[in-house]
Amino acid sequence: MAGKLIVISGPSGVGKSTIIRELASRLGAQISISATTRPASAQEKDGRDYYFVSRRRFEELIRDDQLLEHAEYLGNYYGTPRDPIDRALSEGRDVILGIEVQGAKKVAKLFPDAIMIFLHPPSEDELVRRIRSRARDDESVIQRRLDNARAETAQAQEADIYRYWVVNDELSRAVDELERICKQE
Ligand code: 5GP
Repeated sequence: MAGKLIVISGPSGVGKSTIIRELASRLGAQISISATTRPASAQEKDGRDYYFVSRRRFEELIRDDQLLEHAEYLGNYYGTPRDPIDRALSEGRDVILGIEVQGAKKVAKLFPDAIMIFLHPPSEDELVRRIRSRARDDESVIQRRLDNARAETAQAQEADIYRYWVVNDELSRAVDELERICKQE
């Protein structure tokens, strides 16, 4: 049986990557590692968190049709490498993609059976707190991430592709809910 694609979007700071790691380990699913032109933070590792590439290399990947989808977000490119997804799905493994709304729209078109999930912070105050506590970014980037988070939630509602809206109030509760959703599909 072919594997399933699970797409998880949500504003920056909502806790997407932690949730995705937990969910993947519970489901035995593969996590898609994206390519990006954004610089790596001190905690991030090339090939584990992202493939960090130059703009020129990214444009080559687009040209050679090696990306399932790609989008520009806060001035950087992000894209999903196609081969690992095709391979996992054909071998019957589920794959989780943590991507933003524009990319998710493309995936929803390509894979109408994908499980589409949007994660919400419990409140706007909590989101502000989480983005600040990460302290990965300087103040102007933090502001842009906040503006973008608001815009992204509006965009997600408008896109009308997300079948499930899950609130990340508490990690284990949210992952329980996601696990139930994925198993029932
Ligand atoms: P960050 O810079 O915070 O790691 O990621 C910024 C945004 O890009 C997040 O919403 C993240 O989910 C999204 N993103 C990460 N990888 C991809 C990708 O391959 N494609 C798309 N469309 N978005 C991605």
